[in-house]
Amino acid sequence: MNEFIPTLLKLQELEKKRYDFQSILDHQVAQAKKIKEPWVDIKNSIDEKKARIKKMKVEQHQIELEIETRNQSISRLETQRFETKKNDEFTTMGEEINNYQDDVEELEITLLAKFETIEKLEEKLEKEIETATALKPQIEKELGLFKQKLETAKKEVIELESAIAHLGKKLPSDTLEHWHRLSKNKAGLKTVVLFNDSANVCPSCNMNVQPQIKIDIAHDENLVTCPSCASFLYLEDDHCE
Ligand SMILES: [Zn+2]
Repeated sequence: MNEFIPTLLKLQELEKKRYDFQSILDHQVAQAKKIKEPWVDIKNSIDEKKARIKKMKVEQHQIELEIETRNQSISRLETQRFETKKNDEFTTMGEEINNYQDDVEELEITLLAKFETIEKLEEKLEKEIETATALKPQIEKELGLFKQKLETAKKEVIELESAIAHLGKKLPSDTLEHWHRLSKNKAGLKTVVLFNDSANVCPSCNMNVQPQIKIDIAHDENLVTCPSCASFLYLEDDHCE
């Protein structure tokens, strides 16, 4: 067999393990996300309510200031009104005072509505905080149950990736590149397959193989790949010249 086949076979073995641990890891990560979902939802809802309350309190303060300004105008006008000797000025100021009073009344209604909304939101917020507080230990407990499994899978993946990178240095760069691309496409399936020289098909994809390919495999000088599925093809040593 070609001199690089043993390395490729070893890489394939490592990649299969890496792929399996990665699958476990992906599954665990997805599970953890699912467990955290109700917690994340309630946290978002709490944050959203806090922001709304904060915004409404600013608006509330704004309205209070507007009421104060109008009340100041009213008392200023009232003083002026009783000082004036002119009838028409007296009447105009009276109308102005009425207008300001209408404004104040309207603003007070808006203010009251805001007070009520804030109060309701604060009640809901309090309940949500209670729920979240109760939920937290339960979720942490559930997460803890497979945390170990997740950590182990993560560690294995990292170690296998490092072993693959180390072993890969033994291959010519174009061969390594081809193998990496192939591994990615094959998703855990074989990338280096033993060729059956009595058959005319690639054992990986079952597509027919040209006679020249069979000759090339037997003559182990160059690495041979399947023209259909790109798998590396090889024969055991006793089949080779
Ligand atoms: Zn093939």
